Amino acid sequence: MHLLNADLHSHSTASDGSLEPAELARRAREAGVALWSLTDHDELAGQAAARAAAEALGLAYVSGVEISVSFAGETVHILGFGFDPGHPELVQGLARLRAGRTERARRMGESLAAAGIPGAYEAACALAPNPELVSRTHFARFLVDSGHCASVGEVFGRYLKEGKPGYVPHDWARLGDALRWIHGAGGVAAIAHPARYRLSPTVEYALFSEFQAHGGRAVEVTCGSHFPDEVQRYADMAAEFGLLASRGSDFHAPGESRVPLGALPDLPARVTPVWSLWADTLAGHRPPRPGEPGRLPRAAAAAAAGALAG
Ligand code: AMP
Ligand code: MN
Ligand code: MN
Ligand code: MN
Repeated sequence: MHLLNADLHSHSTASDGSLEPAELARRAREAGVALWSLTDHDELAGQAAARAAAEALGLAYVSGVEISVSFAGETVHILGFGFDPGHPELVQGLARLRAGRTERARRMGESLAAAGIPGAYEAACALAPNPELVSRTHFARFLVDSGHCASVGEVFGRYLKEGKPGYVPHDWARLGDALRWIHGAGGVAAIAHPARYRLSPTVEYALFSEFQAHGGRAVEVTCGSHFPDEVQRYADMAAEFGLLASRGSDFHAPGESRVPLGALPDLPARVTPVWSLWADTLAGHRPPRPGEPGRLPRAAAAAAAGALAG
């Protein structure tokens, strides 16, 4: 189970990735990925194409999303897997988040103009294939293309991080709402890249506790932005909170992302992979149908809980 090459975190042109879902599926298959999820920010527009492309290649697929959440004044990302992408409350909740993004992008443009960089909103929109999904990444690509910075990473450090001239604070979803949308649609929730947040130990503990109290089941342990010591730290946190572990590259674009699809270390042996929830589906080599996985059968729940306790 641990040795399954699962990549449960990636982005397409439906959010801030540079490749179409079908191209991601092709690259995932080529890289030896056995279970894949496309997890665009606040958007499900790529799900049908991702599933179709994966199924055509014989690649097991679970539906995915990465929801932007405001928690204790910080932005955190919550991954959802194996939900019904047509579930109305999820669909409507994400649509509201995207509307808020557009307003934020306008204000980012104003903020950058005040810092001496005019036209950034229009340029970012032109670089965003999905007009409803303008992200800081699109602003970053514009600032690189226009010669203001040498790399996307440099843009974030100089302009787009909190406290920098192009940063605009924003109210995303509430943690409880994001989890309710995912669970209402039959899915499983995971805390994305926990080492990337700048939370005090107290607030991090609150995040994990509240996540678990709302029925959250998993945490990303091995991911594109975790260093080896962070992988171990969140394997410990998974054990402490009784959470399953996820693994994902967070791939966005060739030349931009450090980790290509599927090219990650295995999960530490002591955690229980989140895909243990989908063992029957994987064993049958049949990709799950929309809305099918995510509900843990009672027997499997008991087994997973036992494995965690043991
Ligand atoms: P947004 O959801 O619009 O606030 O944009 C967040 C996205 O920006 C993340 O999903 C990453 O793709 C990207 N990002 C955030 N911080 C950095 C960074 N330091 N370097 C490169 N990309 C980043
Ligand atoms: Mn992103
Ligand atoms: Mn993220
Ligand atoms: Mn991501």
